[in-house]
Amino acid sequence: VIASSESRVTNPSILRHLTSKITATGAITVAEYMREVLTNPVSGYYVKNDMLGADGDFITSPEISQIFGELVGIWCVSEWVASGKPKVLQLVELGPGRGSLIGDILRVFHQLQSVLHGAEVSVHLVEVSPKLSQLQAQCLAGEYTCGGEDELVYRTGTTHTGLPIYWYRSVKDVPRGFSIFLAHEFFDALPIHKFQRTEKGWREVMVDIHPEEPDKLRFVLFPTPTLASTTLIHEDEKRQHLEISPEGGVIVQKLASQIAEDGGAALIADYGHDGTKMDTFRGFRGHKLHDVLEAPGTADLTADVDFSYLRRMAGDAVVCMGPITQRAFLKNMGIDARLQVLLRSCHDATTRAQLIHGCDMLTSPEKMGSRFQFFSLLAPSRLTQPWEEGEGLGRRRRGPAPLPVAGFSELGL
Ligand code: SAH
Repeated sequence: VIASSESRVTNPSILRHLTSKITATGAITVAEYMREVLTNPVSGYYVKNDMLGADGDFITSPEISQIFGELVGIWCVSEWVASGKPKVLQLVELGPGRGSLIGDILRVFHQLQSVLHGAEVSVHLVEVSPKLSQLQAQCLAGEYTCGGEDELVYRTGTTHTGLPIYWYRSVKDVPRGFSIFLAHEFFDALPIHKFQRTEKGWREVMVDIHPEEPDKLRFVLFPTPTLASTTLIHEDEKRQHLEISPEGGVIVQKLASQIAEDGGAALIADYGHDGTKMDTFRGFRGHKLHDVLEAPGTADLTADVDFSYLRRMAGDAVVCMGPITQRAFLKNMGIDARLQVLLRSCHDATTRAQLIHGCDMLTSPEKMGSRFQFFSLLAPSRLTQPWEEGEGLGRRRRGPAPLPVAGFSELGL
């Protein structure tokens, strides 16, 4: 962890900022609370910390095993091939953390140069955290230059494998063109609104100052409908309590429209559910659960991703696959065979044990295998076999049947 341990015990500036805001304008939404705590440009949790890894607050799959990123890399190449090998291939990652996932993918791209031959590959990273983006640059780029504060591209460089790489604060700034979008543990960090069903209808959960302890926060229910409670909740909703991230919805809409118009695919992996869970908002600090309202800014805040909401927001212009469990996805991608290949060429007992342990962490249902889900957006043209010109019964399919989507069904190797 980069932040000094002292500043992590409490982060008084965030709490002070929040209490003065609430005193001035009243209770704030959970989404506003989450946004301030995580990404406030001065003192936000993501802006100030490197929270990943054994010394941090949580550990993620790409940090556990290189095999994870390698299989996702094969998925990207496989989707590019199945889309007819377009000339331009933009690899876009949202929230790359330390850059480990994209680093492993770039190694695969380098090894598969003969397959990717002729494609113009470029790398685009969407990252709000100056601290993490710098770690990413150090890990991925041989050389890089920084743009100005106000520029859409705030850093550019060349990867160790010779590809152009760009950094943006928002996905809307990524250029148009055939793109494979990746988001691993990104959507769970986006601000959610929380709602409770009451006898009078849906009411929004807000964050307020505790009446007896002025430096403590507590949840309250807003007495009347709010803008969010009247606009975000679907009329068929059956649950008693809801968490919705409109920011996540807007990002998925942007991915869907770009994929529909320019081709490409998105792979979204996160812990989540398909519209069944209710109250999942929680904090993590030092790998332990942490009260979300306690010492804001010193712990990660997260909520399970509601894939049914993302599917609804993606709309009909793209095809959605999944969610399926991480275990099923990685098994379909051939994780067992990949592990055997690595073990065959590795004779160091400690490294062998690490490889085996890593795969078990990723796939075991009791560990990360079933809580983590994979979800994909694809261009409809990717899954249909084009018709020949002409009309009527004599009309035939032109060209080969579309290839199955890797990971979501067994990969025929
Ligand atoms: N994908 C990485 C890191 C996950 S942590 C991994 O799996 O290891 C979440 C990442 O998203 C961090 O890099 C964080 O800085 C970034 N992030 C969080 N909110 C963001 C936002 N609103 N816009 C862009 N990046 C964001």
